[in-house]
Amino acid sequence: MAYPVTLIPGDGIGPEITRAMVEVLEATGVEFIWDQQEAGIDALTEFGTPLPEATLESVRKTGVGIKGPTTTPVGTGFRSVNVALRLKLDLYANVRPARSMVGVKSRFSDIDLVIVRENTEDLYAGIEFERGKPATLEVIEHLSRAAGKTISPEAGISIKPFTPAACERIVRFAFEYSRKNKRRKVTAVHKANIMKYTDGLYLEIARAVAQDYPDIEFEDRIVDNMCMQLVQKPELYDVLVLPNLYGDIISDLTAGLIGGLGVAPGANMGDQAALFEAIHGSAPKYAGQDKVNPTALILTGALMLRHLGELAAAEKVETAVADVIREGKTVTYDLAPQIPVGTQAMAQAIAERVQSL
Ligand code: NAD
Repeated sequence: MAYPVTLIPGDGIGPEITRAMVEVLEATGVEFIWDQQEAGIDALTEFGTPLPEATLESVRKTGVGIKGPTTTPVGTGFRSVNVALRLKLDLYANVRPARSMVGVKSRFSDIDLVIVRENTEDLYAGIEFERGKPATLEVIEHLSRAAGKTISPEAGISIKPFTPAACERIVRFAFEYSRKNKRRKVTAVHKANIMKYTDGLYLEIARAVAQDYPDIEFEDRIVDNMCMQLVQKPELYDVLVLPNLYGDIISDLTAGLIGGLGVAPGANMGDQAALFEAIHGSAPKYAGQDKVNPTALILTGALMLRHLGELAAAEKVETAVADVIREGKTVTYDLAPQIPVGTQAMAQAIAERVQSL
């Protein structure tokens, strides 16, 4: 059976790492019907929008997409292709595993964490008011009255909405993920001591949802303490579930714990569709140079194989990546600064290893 999958190469380094990922995934023998679609800066030039409707339609139809990074155009009023994709397709859970690999230089060697980040609310919801605009002054006047506190008319304002429904579904997702993937503990991360009506609500709901999963340990941590704990004793943690903004920041921290963005995969999951993408961006300064590390998107491809139920193929890809990186002979500049190979050569080595497994 061939899987229909929407393929969005993106821009910057996106097209070259996407080519690399496709080569490795096809080496597993799993068949795909790639529906290639555009998004990002190049789409903006060609279609007048960085996110054409046809791209969204394709993901709605296939239910599964894999995406290279896209540059956020500055000064167009368009916030981000990724944020728009997550909101329009209701991809409410961002899953970012962080696992140490031998051969990737890092201060730690035993990291095995999964970040589950809420994707649709919080300060990321895009409800913002620009300093000095009439609507902003109106909001300030209203808020000052309602909160009984003076807000300077000079202020810019960002709104942080949390709903019980969104809090519940992300925490439930984290527990279901943990059960399915045999993880032992979920830690809810928050700042409920200060943000009582948003993070406080989130924590209250997390505690209630945890009651339905007595087989999985549950605890909570305040986000600042969590940061310190993660760099001091990461081995104490397993699956972390976080609101949008903390999830964004902490998942870069955990990517740092395993050696950086070049090896960190990710997935955006909803009830109707799943869109897989690495954590890193479009690194425009390296575009078209056949230089950057394809590992993050290749491991993202392995996450997609798991989602499709192709567990043996996913394991082959993960083993092949780990082997090639451990051997250190055909790896990119970030892993072997002395004798690096290019993006496609590394992908080819991984694809050959997949075929030999
Ligand atoms: P970036 O991740 O593109 O690059 C930061 C640095 O990380 C690079 O200069 C490079 O040194 C390193 N790096 C990134 N990917 C690498 C790889 N595969 N191999 C080796 N090294 C790698 O972050 P940025 O410079 O902050 O963002 C550039 C653009 O990407 C921005 O427009 C940003 O909005 C966008 N972005 C897109 C996504 C996405 O599409 N999912 C995610 C983050 C940022």
